[in-house]
This record gives sequence, C-alpha cells and structure tokens, in this order.
Amino acid sequence: TGIVIALDGPSGSGKSSTSRGVATRLGLRYLDTGAMFRAMTWAMLEAGIDVHDAAAVAAYATTPQLVSGTDPQAPTIHVDGVDVGEAIRGEAVTGAVSPVSTVPEVRTRLLELQREIIGDGDIVVEGRDIGSVVAPDAEVKLYLTADAAARAARRALEEGGSDVAATEASLLARDAIDSTRKAAPLTMPDGATHIDTTAYTLDQVIDQVIALVQA
Ligand code: C5P
Repeated sequence: TGIVIALDGPSGSGKSSTSRGVATRLGLRYLDTGAMFRAMTWAMLEAGIDVHDAAAVAAYATTPQLVSGTDPQAPTIHVDGVDVGEAIRGEAVTGAVSPVSTVPEVRTRLLELQREIIGDGDIVVEGRDIGSVVAPDAEVKLYLTADAAARAARRALEEGGSDVAATEASLLARDAIDSTRKAAPLTMPDGATHIDTTAYTLDQVIDQVIALVQA
C-alpha cells in the first residue's frame, strides 16, 4: 500500500500550499478535508438549515452527495453535481463552517468519505484531525502552526486583499471553536513533527516535509 502524509494545523498555517506542493513534487494525490467541511456547510446553507441547530445539522448530514477531485494542481469539489470550489471560500461558508464541524454526525459522514478516498494511500491529506482520527497510522504526520498575524496576512492575500485585522479576528474565532469542541478538537497528533512556518518561505517548508518523508 502507498504512503499517507497527514498535515494538520489551524487556518492559515500554510497547510494547503504545503500539502499541494508536497503532493505535486512526490506525484501523490491530495485531499483537502477542510473543503469537504466547507462543502457540507454550503449544502446546509443552500437547504436553509440553521447551522446553530445541531439537531437539524445532524439530520441533514447524510443528504448531500460530495465528490472530491484529488489532483494537487487542480483540486475540485462538487455537491450534488454543482462545482462549489469558489462558493466554499466565501464569507457565508467561512462564518458557518466551524459550528457545522462540531456536529458528530457531520464528522462521521465525512470520515467515511475521507477513508474511502484515502483508500490504498499515495496521498497527502490536510485538515484538523488527520493524524489523530482520520489516518492515525499515517507514515508521516506534520503539525503546522504560525503566528496569528502571519496567518492572517497570508489568508488576506489569498483572498485577494481582504482586511488583515478582520481576517485575523475570523481566524481566531474559528481556531477557538475548532480547538475546544468535543468532537475531534484540533490538537497536535501523537508522533507528529511540529513546524512553525512563521519565518519560512513555502519552498523551505515543502523541503522540510520532503526531507522527513525521505528520512
Ligand atoms: O482548512 P479550512 O480552514 O478550509 O477548514 C475549514 C473548517 O473546517 C475549519 O475551521 C474546521 O472547523 C473544519 N475542519 C475540521 N476538520 C478537518 C478540516 C476542517 O473540523 N479535518
């Protein structure tokens, strides 16, 4: 069976760019589990579900059909045949994804899909609970962090120049929910290597990860 590389960490820690870069250089597939939680959230908003009503969210969790494309150079995500790649990055979804992600039925449903996609491996998987819950036997586990200011600056740039202070507030609000929730809280997985990416360029972080994979 192929290799599984698990990358966890908070929003803006450099997980996505690092994961895609590593997968591209090593010829592996790539799975963004955050995009799956975002797509589930998009579906809930479309269906008019109150995302703070845990019972309603739980009841709807098995309804949407999610399909994730795993090419690291062009990842895709569809909900019931609709390409939601752009819509899931909007403010509405970003503001609603953390409460949806706290609901155990959502996590169970997505865990099933994630394990199916991981299959026999040869994949880089990024998220919040990959090394701890989704793929605890991953050959390589990374935990990426960065200072809040650096994370906000990167994310604001990715979003095409949003306000850095507002972006930082939004990141910190999501971090607080993600790390204190009961179901699969964000923590450093056992056996993970911690990289603080604040002072490194993307290429330097990718090099460090590849060195670990080849060690
Ligand atoms: O990585 P990204 O910022 O796109 O993730 C969006 C949200 O999805 C996170 O803030 C978190 O609430 C949730 N998430 C999660 N578990 C994962 C990946 C993402 O709970 N494995």
